[in-house]
Amino acid sequence: MYPSGGRVQTVTDLNSLREAVDELRQSGTIAMVPTMGALHEGHMTLVREAKRHATHVTASIFVNPTQFGPNEDLDAYPRQLAEDQAKLEAEGVALLWAPDVDAMYPQGFATSISVTGVSEGLCGASRPGHFDGVATVVCKLFNQLRPDVALFGEKDWQQLAVIRRMAADLNLTLPCVDNIIGVPTVREEDGLAMSSRNAYLSNAERASAARLNQAMREAIARIEAGADVAQALDWLTGELAAAGFGPIDYVTLADAANLHELAETPAAPARLLVAARIGTTRLIDNMHVEGKSA
Ligand code: AMP
Repeated sequence: MYPSGGRVQTVTDLNSLREAVDELRQSGTIAMVPTMGALHEGHMTLVREAKRHATHVTASIFVNPTQFGPNEDLDAYPRQLAEDQAKLEAEGVALLWAPDVDAMYPQGFATSISVTGVSEGLCGASRPGHFDGVATVVCKLFNQLRPDVALFGEKDWQQLAVIRRMAADLNLTLPCVDNIIGVPTVREEDGLAMSSRNAYLSNAERASAARLNQAMREAIARIEAGADVAQALDWLTGELAAAGFGPIDYVTLADAANLHELAETPAAPARLLVAARIGTTRLIDNMHVEGKSA
């Protein structure tokens, strides 16, 4: 049984982390839920799912500077550790790893992990260096927390693909790549994918933001009904522009596994992926697209 309401042990230095992880390992398996904090129901769903896969759930909160570009929102990114601790405690999380930047990247740090292929298009194209930062920090988190399973949101579909590739390529300590678990996107009632960045939206932007997922659903219905893919994607781009989105980084239909762009109605299940700005906030979303039946 999971305790609820117990204290989450919060550690901020590597020695304490090593001791805490050693202790947990003696009494069972470990699930890892890495986050950048400002926790919402999306994150908490990962935590709850994690309980189904391991004896102990560990979470990390680290706003990783190396995955932010020079003109991105690193300084503005919401930080609310006490609130986040209370949420993790309420779910019976055993250990919270919350290092500061110096603990994660000490003086002289000089290593970067670069995953080619899946990291190159989509967000990799519009956010140069982003996935190197993600891969490097997630690899460090795997080594630091030594989990048996790790959970990531499908909301960041490309990130999940990059992490799976890296874990397989580097033989990370997880028993197997299947122990990287993707969790379906948790949404607000109007369909907007939950995100810590939604807090940046003004009331007017928040109202328009709902159109992103609604229009994606409509575009998917068109594609699944056999509409021309380019026309359906153009229609979606137009809908987003009309709702106040811009610039639109990408509106792409891709193979769900290797993320290769698809120009025609897919034969196998695919993914519709969108990244677009509303005001100064960049939102992303992605959804399953059924392949045409043979
Ligand atoms: P972040 O704090 O944004 O880095 O996200 C931490 C983890 O939570 C990542 O694996 C995200 O994909 C996942 N996540 C974020 N938002 C959602 C959501 N709405 N539904 C499911 N997972 C999410």
